Order: sequence, then structure tokens, then C-alpha cells
Amino acid sequence: MNKWTDIVKLIKKSDDIVILTHTNMDGDAIGSASALCHALRHMGKRSVILLEDDIPGYLRFMHDHDSKEGGLPFFVKEMPYEPHLAVAVDCGDAGRIEKRFDVFSSCADRICVDHHIQTEHFADYSVVEPDASATGILIYQLINELGVPIDKEIAEDLYVAIMTDTGCFRYSNTTAECHLVTAELYKAGIEFDKLGTLIYDTLPLSQIKLEAMIIVWMELFEGGKAVISYITQDKLKEIGATYDMTSSCIDVLRKIDTVEVCAFLKEHEDGSIKLSMRAKSYADVNRVARALGGGGHVRAAGATFNVPMEEAIRLTREKISEELSRC
Ligand code: 5GP
Ligand code: MN
Repeated sequence: MNKWTDIVKLIKKSDDIVILTHTNMDGDAIGSASALCHALRHMGKRSVILLEDDIPGYLRFMHDHDSKEGGLPFFVKEMPYEPHLAVAVDCGDAGRIEKRFDVFSSCADRICVDHHIQTEHFADYSVVEPDASATGILIYQLINELGVPIDKEIAEDLYVAIMTDTGCFRYSNTTAECHLVTAELYKAGIEFDKLGTLIYDTLPLSQIKLEAMIIVWMELFEGGKAVISYITQDKLKEIGATYDMTSSCIDVLRKIDTVEVCAFLKEHEDGSIKLSMRAKSYADVNRVARALGGGGHVRAAGATFNVPMEEAIRLTREKISEELSRC
């Protein structure tokens, strides 16, 4: 009996499975979901990943899997069958499954595998470990428990998950375990150099222009310990950039030497505003995010606003200042 026993039993007895992950997908979300989908198909299960938004441009190469295996695509926007088991991966709360929550809750059995700080569990069976560097680490353990060999494709998906959530093994969530798991992925023959170049060193010109714009618009506060910037839909259109390109912006702000907390606000097509925050070494941005109705991790968190941009900036600044005055 270990933490995976019940989940492994459930997966083994289920034939029709749906995998869900959070909206505004990142590498851990797509990599974990895709690795699990591969493993389930190796076990002869019907399994797809149900999405409601598009895969961001820098991760679109992960769509390649679709064309390699006959039959059902990996990523779907509508369920091609009625699933009995739902597995939510990298998803800290039910709200982040958004419009697909009906599909999740209609399944007879529901599992959650995640590494966010969860306030309440929304699945029947959960493995939630905030100390795990990435959900990809937990999916690696689960696939081993399922007895599926880690082939090159599964290993590359898991590598993308772990590499992106640890900022290329640089963030404070990088652990010995994540290096040990990565060593196992190397043994499966991953093309780590190709994946690193695709994810970190291949940018469209419009994204470079976007990164320049957010530097022009940024404001430092709290004596340079905090920085905030933003982008609007109008500006994105003007420079020919798309919403999914905004995910790299927070890392640009994070580079400023005096900064402990950085915040980036981006206007979504539906008018809502998505906040991303990072802390470098001592501030708790999860607390800031929670005060704003969001959540995440201690050093990486976010929230969603339905107020005008100026108000979202004001609220974010206020809560960051409160946090820094505590430190
Ligand atoms: P990112 O800035 O990369 O979008 O998100 C950083 C972390 O904050 C992620 O772990 C993500 O799950 C969490 N996060 C981002 N936005 C939200 C949100 O609106 N609500 C909650 N609960 N968590 C969020
Ligand atoms: Mn993650």
C-alpha cells in the first residue's frame, strides 16, 4: 500500500479516461498530461486530453504526437466518447478546469495529481505534493507504478514538464529528486538539446517586440524590490503578438537585480485580466495571490481579475506592498 495504490487500481479497472489540466497551459500542464496519455494508451486505455484553450505557440511542437499515433488525437476540444474516469493534472483548484468542470464531475471516478498548494481537494482520490518540483515528477512516479516503461516520447513530455516548471533547473523548487528523475529521462534517450532550444531560444520577432514593450511600461516600487508591468489586447494587436506569447514576460521582469517580487498583468481576449507573479527568495506571492482571489505556489502564483487594468494594477501593487512590509 502506498500513496498510488488506490489510483493505480482505479486506472487499471477503467477503460475510458479523460485527462484535464488547467487553462493557460504551461509546459508542466501539457507535458504531464501528454506523458500520462501516452502511458494510458500503452496500457490499451481509451484516453484523450480535453482542452478548452489553444496550446501556446512555444509548446505547439508537442502537438506532433497527434499525427504519430493512429486513431484518436491526443488533444481534443470535445469528448469523442463518454469517460468513466477523469484525471486532473497540475490543476490546483476546480475553478482552473473552468468550462470542462461538467465533464470532470460527470465521471464516475475522479483523480487529481498536482503540486499546487490546495485549500480543499476537489477529486475523490488525490496525490497533491506542494514540495514536488513539477507535476511531471508525480506523473513519472505514477507511470512507474502503472508498470509502463518510460519510452523516449513519455520521457520527453516529462522533461518538458520538469524543465519548464523549474525554469531550466534554476528556481528554488529544483530538488535532488528532480535531477534524479531527469537522469532517468536522459537514459530513455531524450533530445534535451533540441527541447531546450525549441522552448527557450526560438522566439517570433513579435514576441521580442512584446518583451521590449513591457520594459517600457514597467514601474518599479517599494524601493526597487518590486516591479509591475502589463499588456493590453490593443497593444498586442498593434505589435502583431498573441496572448500566448505573454508567458515569457514575467521572466524578463524577474531578471532585474534589485527585484524580489515581479508582477505581470495581461488582458485576455474576453476582457479578463490574468496576473502572474514571481518571488525570488523570501516573499510569499501565494499569499498575495490568495488575497486577490487566486493561488499557486510560494514563489510563483497568479490570479484573475474582472476589473479594468488600472484597478487590477492598483490592487496588485497594494497587496505586494503589504507582503513586502511583512518580510
Ligand atoms: P503563471 O504565472 O505561470 O500563469 O502561474 C504561476 C502559478 O500560479 C501556477 O502554479 C498557477 O497554477 C498559479 N495560478 C496562476 N493563475 C492562477 C489563478 O487565476 N488562480 C489560481 N488559483 N492559481 C493561479
Ligand atoms: Mn506545475
